[in-house]
Amino acid sequence: MRSKNLKFRLLIGVAIALFFVFKRCSQREENPYTGRMQTISMAADEEIAIGLQSAPQMAQQHGGLHPNTQYQALVDNVGNKLVNNSIARQTPYKYEFHLLADPNTINAFALPGGQIFITHALFSKLENEDQLAGVLGHEIGHVLGRHSAERIAESEYWQGLATAGSVGADMGGLVSGIGQNTLLTNGRDDELESDELGVKFMLKAGYNPREMIGVMEILKAAAGPNRVPEMQSTHPDPDNRIEKIEEAIEKYKN
Ligand SMILES: [Zn+2]
Repeated sequence: MRSKNLKFRLLIGVAIALFFVFKRCSQREENPYTGRMQTISMAADEEIAIGLQSAPQMAQQHGGLHPNTQYQALVDNVGNKLVNNSIARQTPYKYEFHLLADPNTINAFALPGGQIFITHALFSKLENEDQLAGVLGHEIGHVLGRHSAERIAESEYWQGLATAGSVGADMGGLVSGIGQNTLLTNGRDDELESDELGVKFMLKAGYNPREMIGVMEILKAAAGPNRVPEMQSTHPDPDNRIEKIEEAIEKYKN
């Protein structure tokens, strides 16, 4: 009786697992802007909606928008120049660039769909317009690479497998452990892809891509125990990133 029960659970577990595996297969698609295959469970307009919905809260967490309209205009100009001179322009995303008042957190980030933020703490450390282009180009890379949407789809998949595991053979813990590692690995790849896209956008818009390395140096110097910038948090080590940025410059400079 007991082993019959176990077999039944195992079958259900396998069925659930197969469901999620097939679902994931059906969600695989090639990103037309990066050429990379990825798992995506939402449409571009849903990404835009999520971004727009979360933007005010994001701003609020960082002291709201910075009151200096000249600084904000510079951020807009550089961001729009990057978008208008690159493939970012061909995407359905609505890019908006926000300078946040936060004087302490050295950070920049992107919400899905095109809402992009830089804190004044990071803005004030930048030495030139090219470095600002480096930061914003990297964030545009996250949007166009659909990294948030991909993480959401991947985590749905791993949660599904964890459910299957827990029904089938009490392996849920193990499977969800694997899932977490996968998400972190994605995080590292996301950063490298965004760095490479950032370099590409900078070149297209006429900025000096070597200043992206300058940005890395600023982040490296600024990183302390309580300061973990998005551009550095989950992340391949900065020297490795600099190496990859140099490779990207060689690849795209002509
Ligand atoms: Zn990043």
